[in-house]
Amino acid sequence: MRNPFFTSLSDFAKGRDDKRFSIEEVTRYFLSRTESLNASLNVCLSTNPNAINRARQLDARLARNGAQSPFYGYPVMVKDNFEMEGFPTTCASKILSGYVSRRTATSVARLLSLGAIVLGKTNLDEFAMGSSTENSAFGPTKNPWNPARVPGGSSGGSAAAVAAGLAPLSLGSDTGGSIRQPAAFCGVLGIKPTYGRISRSGLVAFSSSLDQIGPFALQASDALEALVAMGGRDPLDMTTDDRDPSEMRRDFQTTEIPGLRIGIPAEMFGEGLDSSIRDRLGELRDSLAGSGSREVAVTLPHSRFGINVYYLLATSEASSNLSRFDGVRYGFRVKEPADLRAMYEETRDRGFGDEVKRRILLGTFALSAGYQEAFYRKARKVQALIRGDFLKAFEQCDMILTPTSPSPPFAFGEKTGDPLSMYLSDVYTITANLAGLPALSVPVGLDSQGLPVGAHLIGPPWSEGRLLKVADKISSLYPMPLPEVHAGHPAGFREGGLK
Ligand code: GLN
Repeated sequence: MRNPFFTSLSDFAKGRDDKRFSIEEVTRYFLSRTESLNASLNVCLSTNPNAINRARQLDARLARNGAQSPFYGYPVMVKDNFEMEGFPTTCASKILSGYVSRRTATSVARLLSLGAIVLGKTNLDEFAMGSSTENSAFGPTKNPWNPARVPGGSSGGSAAAVAAGLAPLSLGSDTGGSIRQPAAFCGVLGIKPTYGRISRSGLVAFSSSLDQIGPFALQASDALEALVAMGGRDPLDMTTDDRDPSEMRRDFQTTEIPGLRIGIPAEMFGEGLDSSIRDRLGELRDSLAGSGSREVAVTLPHSRFGINVYYLLATSEASSNLSRFDGVRYGFRVKEPADLRAMYEETRDRGFGDEVKRRILLGTFALSAGYQEAFYRKARKVQALIRGDFLKAFEQCDMILTPTSPSPPFAFGEKTGDPLSMYLSDVYTITANLAGLPALSVPVGLDSQGLPVGAHLIGPPWSEGRLLKVADKISSLYPMPLPEVHAGHPAGFREGGLK
């Protein structure tokens, strides 16, 4: 359900300034909706006890000084792998139980400084490893379209929050598809910007060379404003770029669909793609062509190695990044271990879930002396080839269109017994991370079972504004319904879908 107050960020700002509603009213609405639906959807791992107070303070200041930003009073949810001072950050892992953050992620701090209100922290696969939220130590999130289906992952809570109308904007992280795949599964827009666009400071690191932060929203223009607000150089993250994020607004305004060259890689429309997704994408290609864009055949020959390369690089970096969770510095520690070594071993054994352990083992193996050349270094070389394919393709086209996911949202338990089949759900999204490119997923309606389908656009570095403009066009071609979600009856699920 769309909220009763506003349809977009700019509409919110207008309604707020025209006194159509107070910030407190809006905040109360979203919090109480979250309270009533969370038992069935399991979207939030914690809510913000200070939200109402903050809303009141913002209302009082608004009456005195007016608002400087559209985000002033805007409700936001944040994936629970972002740090927020004074709040628990669990990463959906038992190993962080009891841990309270002592700093705030730069991305969140920038939204807060504009007046945004964080309502709560959302569920995820443990340490963002997974594609379904089934790896959360706190139980999975339900897909608001159908409670028997996964919402995607790892940012499943953030995607479901926007789809179920618990917040109009949420933040996720994307290492191999964790924003785009859940966006597709929940029928919302999700964008992973260019590597270096948004500071990763305060995001708990999974694979530092691939991780990026991005928003979920219902409107492309809202996602654009969120990127502008969070983007730009941060002295706390050396990989952030100097360019001015407001350039994205200019690109959004000046991009036109007529004449736009859309690259179609045959590799990504072939075997393994669910037929109803292929059909939806086929319709989209026709409508885009009808709007004046032109299709260009491109080829990404090395993308077939994407999954292999990703699971070497991401696990290698994860094994190193996760070594800090040792029972000494953060969160959980076993009681009365026999000695120090037992303390480390038992803490990590009991604190981490199976998937995280699997990744640590794979990564430690890939980095071990004697194997580094054969695995890690080779993967880095293939990564360069994958990026090279994209840059070459972008000499012929402005952006590339693919499906976001090869399959519709799958059922709980369907892939948990077979990690490899779970890994394959990222086959179309992973290469954008390996190449550091911006990419988004935008809804293109529902499949034959009434489940959302996403289209995936990948662009050259720093082309977020253009990608979002095309997403905006796609949203106007495919006005997306939202699921009816009721308390106690998770997701107004009707057999046969909501069409
Ligand atoms: N599903 C992929 C994985 O399990 C990607 C996760 C992500 O982007 N954080 O690693």
